[in-house]
Amino acid sequence: MPDETRTVVVIGAGFSGAMVTAHLLRREHTALLRVVLVNKSGPIARGVAYGTRQSRHVLNVPAGRMSAFPAEEDHFLRFVQAREPDTTGGTFVPRSTYGDYLASVLHEAAQRGGHATLTHVQDEARRIDLVSEDGPALVTLASGRIITADRVVLALGNYTPSNPPLADGSFYESARYIRDPWTPGVLQDVPADRPVLLIGTGLTMLDVALDLSQGGRTAPLVAVSRRGLTPLPHRDHGSPPSYGHLPPDLVAVEPTAVACLRAVRRHVRMLERAGVDWREVVASLRPVTVRLWKALPNREKARFLRHLRPYWDVHRHRVAPDLWRAYDGLRQCGDLQVRAGRLVSITDVGEDVSVAFRPRGRRVADELRVARVINCTGPEGDVRALQDPLINQVVADGLARPDALGIGLQVTDDLACITADGRRSSVLSLVGPLLKGAFWEATAVPELRVHAATAAARLHRELEASLPSLRRRREPGVVPSLRA
Ligand SMILES: Cc1cc2nc3c(=O)[nH]c(=O)nc-3n(C[C@H](O)[C@H](O)[C@H](O)COP(=O)(O)OP(=O)(O)OC[C@H]3O[C@@H](n4cnc5c(N)ncnc54)[C@H](O)[C@@H]3O)c2cc1C
Repeated sequence: MPDETRTVVVIGAGFSGAMVTAHLLRREHTALLRVVLVNKSGPIARGVAYGTRQSRHVLNVPAGRMSAFPAEEDHFLRFVQAREPDTTGGTFVPRSTYGDYLASVLHEAAQRGGHATLTHVQDEARRIDLVSEDGPALVTLASGRIITADRVVLALGNYTPSNPPLADGSFYESARYIRDPWTPGVLQDVPADRPVLLIGTGLTMLDVALDLSQGGRTAPLVAVSRRGLTPLPHRDHGSPPSYGHLPPDLVAVEPTAVACLRAVRRHVRMLERAGVDWREVVASLRPVTVRLWKALPNREKARFLRHLRPYWDVHRHRVAPDLWRAYDGLRQCGDLQVRAGRLVSITDVGEDVSVAFRPRGRRVADELRVARVINCTGPEGDVRALQDPLINQVVADGLARPDALGIGLQVTDDLACITADGRRSSVLSLVGPLLKGAFWEATAVPELRVHAATAAARLHRELEASLPSLRRRREPGVVPSLRA
C-alpha cells in the first residue's frame, strides 16, 4: 500500500462538487487520495436545485439530457426507469428524484474501494491560505478547524439573490421582505388572503408563484420585471430536442451579439417554414455556445448581458410543459399578474407594504399594496458585489480574480483559477455557475457535468505527476502541524 496521502478539499456539495468528487473517487490512484467534501448547508449532492421534496418541482431539462456523465447519456434515464419504467428521454421528472440520483452516484463512487476515500464535513469554508505558491493550502472552516489540502476545488454554486436597486433600500431590512425564496420554510407564513409582490419574472418566480398558489390563495400575486418576459415552455412530446439545426453561417458571422442574434433569427424563420420548431435551433446552439462566447470581445459580451440576456434566458432556460400550463392557468384567471416596468420605491406602511411601480412606457408610477415582497430575481451574478467571506478573501488575497465582466472567476480552459497576477493557480480549481464569464453556459447539468469531469481528470493527472515532489515536501517539519 502506498504511504503518501494526497488531500483534495472540495468546497460545496451541490451537483458540481459532488460530481468532481465522484469522478475523483472513480479513478485509479497510485497513492492514497483523501477527498474532503465541505458543505455548509443542506444534504450533500443536492444543493438548492435538487434539495426540494415537492414532487411538483420538476426538472427543467428532460431526463434524457440529465445524465451526470457526459459519456453515458442515458445514465440518469436508466436510474429513473428502474423506479418508473414508463419514463422516456423527454420526461420531466421531479427534482428530488435527481437529488436521489446524485446521492446514489456519489455513494457508489465512495463504495468502490481502491486508494480513494471520502470524508464529508458539514461546515462553511471561510478562507484559504497557501503555504507556498504550489501548496499546500490551509482551508479554514467556520468552526475553526483547518484542513490541509494539496488541491482545493471551489464548487460554491449559486449565490443568494441581491437586493434590487432602489434609491432607499431600507425596506430590505423589513420582516415583510423575503430575500431568498429558497430558504426552507420561508414561504410558509406568506398570507394567502392579501396580494404579494414577486420581483423577477423568470424560473424562480414561476416556482414561487406555483408554490404560493397551492394553499387556497384568494389574493393575487403580482410579478414585475423590467421587460415582463417569462420563461417559455419546452415542447410537449417525447424526445429531447436534437442538436442538428445549427445556423450554418453562425460560427463565421462577425463576432457581435447582434450579428449572432440575426443569424439565429434568420435560421429559425427559414426552418419554421419547413415545420421545424424554434427550440430545435436554440438547442443546436448548445455545442457551439462556448466558442461563440469566447469569440465575442468583452464589450460585445457586456452588450449581450445588458440587452439580450433576458431574451436568451426565456428561450434557452425553458420550463416543463405541465408546469408551464399550471403557471399559464394562474395568469389566465388573474391569480398571477405579470407586469413590465420599474420599481420606484418600496416602504412599510402599517400592516402593508406600499410599492411604487412605473409601468414600461409610462411616466407615472402606480401604487400597489401588498403583504409581502419576495425577491425572485435569481442568484446574484456579480462576484464583485458578493458578501461571501470565502470569495471575498480569495479575491482580496489574489488567489483568484474575477473575469472581465464580473460574472464569475477567471479560469484556464481546464478550470484552474487564474491568480491576481495572471498566473495559473497550482492549487485552486473552479466548477459551477461561477464559470459563466469563461464559458457563458455554466448553469445546467449538460454543461456542468463536462466541467466536473474536466476538472477531475486534470486534478487526477496533476496529483499522479506530483508524487515525487510530494514525497520531498512531506519530509518531517516541512508541512505545518495544522493537518486536520
Ligand atoms: C431552483 C433551481 C432549479 C434548477 N433546476 C435545474 C434543472 O432542472 N436542470 C438543470 O440542469 N439545472 C437546474 N438548475 C441549475 C443548477 O444551478 C445546476 O443544475 C446545479 O444544481 C448547480 O450545482 P452547483 O453544485 O454548482 O451549485 P449549488 O447547487 O448551488 O451547490 C453549491 C453548494 O455549495 C455550498 N457552499 C457554498 N459556499 C460554501 C462554503 N463557503 N463552504 C461550504 N459550502 C459552501 C452550498 O451550501 C451548496 O450546497 C436549477 C437551479 C435552481 C436554483
